[in-house]
Amino acid sequence: MKLLKEILRALTRPPVTTQYPAKPASLPPSFRGPPDFDDARCIRCFACSSVCPTGACYVQDISDGERTVLIIDYTRCISCGRCVTICPTDALHHTREYSLLASRKTLYTLSSTEVDVRFIRCTECNQPITDVSHIRFIADRLSENLPEEVRDRALEDFKRFSSLCPACRTKLARKLGTSPEKWC
Ligand code: SF4
Ligand code: SF4
Repeated sequence: MKLLKEILRALTRPPVTTQYPAKPASLPPSFRGPPDFDDARCIRCFACSSVCPTGACYVQDISDGERTVLIIDYTRCISCGRCVTICPTDALHHTREYSLLASRKTLYTLSSTEVDVRFIRCTECNQPITDVSHIRFIADRLSENLPEEVRDRALEDFKRFSSLCPACRTKLARKLGTSPEKWC
């Protein structure tokens, strides 16, 4: 009898759960969906790939090594936001996408995104260093923020050292008698 009463009460009450997927979910303002990417703002510094805890964001050679791309794989992203937080140019921001579940027959709503990387190479040993837009970004920040009396000298030093990989940079710093740590 007690069970019957409980069943009748449950049948006459409105549902206590949300109506998703029949109705869209209502998201809080702080909701973090998987990151969206703005290619025009990205300087290919790879900070995002170095902090991603799941390997969703990574650099890869494709087309038999002809292209290097930075990839964000939404199927591995847990929307932790570490890449968004560390990005120095706001090239990444959280979407408000939450419907990423897929049946075996359907594809994920968001697929991977990829952007081209144009590596500059060390002038001494030809090892890839970083993307050319990353170097320009640092040079612009130095120009904007350094006092006038040291700016030219600093930019000259930066030009000389930024064309070298970390190992060759250390060698040059030792030769010049400056601290290697300063440049690594
Ligand atoms: S939100 Fe987190 S898991 Fe997703 S790509 Fe960024 S760092 Fe990786
Ligand atoms: S951290 Fe930002 S600027 Fe750097 S590679 Fe990632 S998206 Fe581009």
